[in-house]
Amino acid sequence: MDIKDRVLVVEDDKSIRNFFRTVLEANNYDVIMAGTGTEAYSLITSRCPDVVILDLGLPDMDGMKILKNVREWSGMPIIVVSARTYEKDKVEALDLGADDYITKPFGTSELLARIRTAIRHARAACLAPEGIQTGIFRSGEMVIDYDKHRVYIDGRDAGLTQNEYKIVSLLGKYAGKVLTYDFIIKEIWGPNMRTDNRILRVNMANIRRKIEKNPAQPEYLFTEVGVGYRIVDPD
Ligand code: CA
Repeated sequence: MDIKDRVLVVEDDKSIRNFFRTVLEANNYDVIMAGTGTEAYSLITSRCPDVVILDLGLPDMDGMKILKNVREWSGMPIIVVSARTYEKDKVEALDLGADDYITKPFGTSELLARIRTAIRHARAACLAPEGIQTGIFRSGEMVIDYDKHRVYIDGRDAGLTQNEYKIVSLLGKYAGKVLTYDFIIKEIWGPNMRTDNRILRVNMANIRRKIEKNPAQPEYLFTEVGVGYRIVDPD
């Protein structure tokens, strides 16, 4: 018998809850529901969901508060759902440790893809020792060789500088996930770096010129406007 992955949906809007239930049960997930932040807390601790879908606008508290508290003791995957299109909220949620975010209205296939990615990341994080990256990341014609500190495209060394390599390997470590500008800058240039996206943008432009066939229509390195960057999933 298959063990189903358990999804906790935290959402106060009844019609959206029904949508989640229908879609997720049809795709073989075990679905549990919470309509308030208080209910969410108690289900998170008592039922150990494999992934949490968290609406930010709840009647009794801001979803950010739940995210923050859970992150103090657990790395369980949390996907934030927001009707807010403000980029500020997405950035804040990611910086507080959300695995991903999804903006209403969204489609079924997008939702399912986000859930699969979040669960896969969580499983991979359990298997791989923290901070150590070895082996190969391959997607299409791009290869990141973590042992040699090189990136190859179409079998050729892309000729990245050290910082360019660090950015690509950081994105590779969190493949599929959006990394915020702030997060990348702190990881690459250290915590004392003045937050200035310009230097990161320049680096990304150079990386894209070296890796992408058409930098204006990237196949490997994507921009999430106003939020950050994401690398393609590995093959
Ligand atoms: Ca709501």
